[in-house]
Amino acid sequence: MSLSLSSERPTPPAVAVDGAWLECIDCADSYAPFEAVRYTCDACDGLLEVRYADLPTFDDFDSDATGVWRYADALPLESGVSIQEGATPLYEVPRLEDELGLEALRIKHEGMNPTGSFKDRGMTVGVAVARELGVSRLACASTGNTSAALAAYGSRAGMETLVLLPAGKVAAGKVAQASLHGARILEVDGNFDACLDVVQELAARGEAYLLNSLNPFRLEGQKTIGLEILEAFREDYDAWPDRIVLPVGNAGNTAALYKAFRELVQAGDLDREDVPTLTGVQAEGAAPMVEAIENGADEVRRWADVETRATAIRIGNPVNAPKALPGIRETGGTAVAVSDAEITAAQRDLAGEGIGVEPASAASIAGLRKLREVGAVDADERVACLTTGHLLKDPDAAAAAGAEPEPVPADTDGVLEALTE
Ligand SMILES: *Cc1c(COP(=O)(O)O)cnc(C)c1O
Ligand SMILES: [Zn+2]
Repeated sequence: MSLSLSSERPTPPAVAVDGAWLECIDCADSYAPFEAVRYTCDACDGLLEVRYADLPTFDDFDSDATGVWRYADALPLESGVSIQEGATPLYEVPRLEDELGLEALRIKHEGMNPTGSFKDRGMTVGVAVARELGVSRLACASTGNTSAALAAYGSRAGMETLVLLPAGKVAAGKVAQASLHGARILEVDGNFDACLDVVQELAARGEAYLLNSLNPFRLEGQKTIGLEILEAFREDYDAWPDRIVLPVGNAGNTAALYKAFRELVQAGDLDREDVPTLTGVQAEGAAPMVEAIENGADEVRRWADVETRATAIRIGNPVNAPKALPGIRETGGTAVAVSDAEITAAQRDLAGEGIGVEPASAASIAGLRKLREVGAVDADERVACLTTGHLLKDPDAAAAAGAEPEPVPADTDGVLEALTE
């Protein structure tokens, strides 16, 4: 099984370039990394993964660089199209930690990336690979954040970008970003899964280079979230985290974190038993991964109709499920669904500790709370929750979850009077 946790080192195939190659997770066919545009296996259409002959340990990483490119030794390129992504804060939340009754709780706030979501970590690598391949037009389907990141990194690289969005289902901040960074925005009469079907077809016809998380190079950049969390826990607690909780949409991040762990195990830096438990959280109205985990299924059933206020995870057909399901299972993890009301409550909880996140991000805390309540998470655990996007991404959701502005007259006595009410 190519996706299990093993300390065995892979043997590079003849097509490897500088010790790196692409490998199919289903049939193990291998391909040269930058020789041609390819998203899935030619032989069986399986998902591809970047593999390396030599994997770095934490001691190998360049201590001078910061952010994603500090981990260049674990990436397919030496440098990328960078806007200083990564190196995001790992906040302490003492009140939430106390209330949930955990040994330690930290929030890895990916909303602090340049465009306000973790998608930047994938794009700094993905857009650099696109440049390496010499493609001319970049494209993605998006619930919003991928389009914001692609627009920014594409413009940074001076490349044409095309984004397909589900009409009326993308938060205002994200459309504004894609728009100002100069992407051509196509509003599709359909949901995210339909947008992805179309953009995959465009890519297959050679009309654009696909930068959704089906693209294996994007996940390489996203691995660095896991590397940063592990490094920080080792420094702060002299221990690895027991569990990482994250919102799940297309399950790219789940797959990327698992890959980071597998590579550390292979490099000999992390013992199998110490690998953090991956815990995925979905919204009740869009929970095909939770369904598959609960049923012990090998495949995820596509949900035709999905609905949730957490628009970033309003996805019924998680394309990275074949990589993410083994990740959750092999680490002894689980997946849980939460309601929109629970998501909003968690968004307020985080805001109460000064951390502003968009609804999808709050799903991680909502899921952790739920698992704590049923005893699926133990009190002695050290947990990291991933918050994937910034509060300002979805100003409407934030305003709806927060306090109402109160009208007052323009004089001090009137203001004081209003304050006594
Ligand atoms: C993209 C995104 C997700 C989902 O991540 P996957 O890797 O697709 O599972 C969750 N939250 C936010 C804010 C996102 O932008
Ligand atoms: Zn294959």
